[in-house]
Amino acid sequence: MIRILVVEDEKPISDLLDMSLTSAGYTCDCVFTGIEAADAVNSRRYDLILLDVMLPGIDGFELMEYLAPMEIPVIFITARSAVKDRIKGLKLGADDYITKPFEIAELLARVETVLRRYHKTESRITVGDVVVDTQSRVVTRGGEPVQLTAKEYNLLILFLQNKNIALFRETIYERVWENDYMGDSRTVDLHVQRLRKKLGWQERIAAVYKVGYRLEVHDE
Ligand code: CA
Repeated sequence: MIRILVVEDEKPISDLLDMSLTSAGYTCDCVFTGIEAADAVNSRRYDLILLDVMLPGIDGFELMEYLAPMEIPVIFITARSAVKDRIKGLKLGADDYITKPFEIAELLARVETVLRRYHKTESRITVGDVVVDTQSRVVTRGGEPVQLTAKEYNLLILFLQNKNIALFRETIYERVWENDYMGDSRTVDLHVQRLRKKLGWQERIAAVYKVGYRLEVHDE
């Protein structure tokens, strides 16, 4: 289980982060001040900290100096896009930063990347009778291997990183094909159909009217 500490004093943003990370399968604790954050890291082991720069009292930079010796990966969250702040954060030992307002898909991708760098990602993901080993890239359904193309595999991973989140066709295309979306919705639709068929996920990958698709994962 990957446990993430969110240090963010703006309640709506904190709630959004909590909801998004929880949906993506992470366990999430939210605190609102630097003092609470220091207490949290002393009482529990965290795999990653999302740290807002502008906090009341002790700010994110000061807190980072306190956290640095603990060697917990840190991603700064900041409303400031000033280059000097980013550099300051990275110099203090942060692993990455994200600027508000951010897209959930981008946030999750950055979280995933930092966790992978620290080998903290869980390599086996299970949804129903489907098991995905992200290290060997082997996918099985009911214990039987499923042959996926590279694009189908990347599409599957994108869905797994965004459980219960509606993904726009545009976002899917840009993330899986790493290309600008030029209205290539049939390409996305075709690959989703193939993936549904191969995994028996006709119901699980739900079509979202005028948006795209959503992987439905409940009580697992
Ligand atoms: Ca703030």
